[in-house]
Amino acid sequence: MNAQAYRPLTVAQTLARGIVGLAKAGDSPRSDALQLLAFVLGRERSWIVAHGETFLSKPQAEKFAGLCDVRAGGMPLAYILGTVGFYGREFTVNEKVLVPRPETEHLVDEALAHVKARVNPSLPKQFVTVLDVGVGSGAIACTIAAENANVFVEGTDTSSAAIKVAQHNARRLNVIGRCRFHYGSLASPVGDRQYDVVVANLPYVPSADVPRPPESAGFEPREALDGGPDGLAAYRQFLPGAPGLLKPGGMLLLEAAPPVFDELAVLVGRAFPRLDFEVCEDYAGLARYVKLVTPE
Ligand code: GLN
Repeated sequence: MNAQAYRPLTVAQTLARGIVGLAKAGDSPRSDALQLLAFVLGRERSWIVAHGETFLSKPQAEKFAGLCDVRAGGMPLAYILGTVGFYGREFTVNEKVLVPRPETEHLVDEALAHVKARVNPSLPKQFVTVLDVGVGSGAIACTIAAENANVFVEGTDTSSAAIKVAQHNARRLNVIGRCRFHYGSLASPVGDRQYDVVVANLPYVPSADVPRPPESAGFEPREALDGGPDGLAAYRQFLPGAPGLLKPGGMLLLEAAPPVFDELAVLVGRAFPRLDFEVCEDYAGLARYVKLVTPE
């Protein structure tokens, strides 16, 4: 028999090999292998699980092996698949945008609760307005727009590639009519407009801690992660102008991480000297975001 001959493998065998190959590439080799195989075969994950005896064609097997190698090299799964789940919806992503993280869903929850409280039932046509500073893929902005039809969302980004992704996602989720994305730094594109909710997930990783490949986050855009020497360069620039962006009774939500909260609290306190604010935790019990509401 020709040693080069292709020996067909079943779905179950291929999956098992994929899991072994991905074991060093992250903490979810089974889930990653399953998603990659579903992607290659153009099937749902449930189909893969139920059709373990089906044989793969040679091109399918080769494509799967190639993608497993890319993933094993550290490339985030979301970039390979071109999509990621966030708040129960699928978002398009590419290497120009940060991969939305599950912990960012807390900010969406907070924003949605505030939006709901501010919708005036006697004026249903009057939009509640939300600004997402550093909109990236549009995960936060588009989710808020998709969850509440009374919201009008604006987003800014210094990356025109990111704005294209956000627009694509807004179109995909059918909310483009209630979303505007502006190219520019922080809140500068929106002038003196004021919002019911301002949300920001600006870069907050200290430069020295920004991951490098083969760590998965090392494949993400550095400008979305690198917050300068102490991680707070972007928030330091943004916060002095933040009070002017909020309507009376408006909510400010800022994502960050435990190492920067002491200093971030100082910056927030300086920008809003007479206001109390909360540092809230994420699913893992880690400090994750600042929440503040201005007086009515
Ligand atoms: N949560 C991201 C990370 O730790 C950082 C996101 C950000 O800097 N805004 O990789």
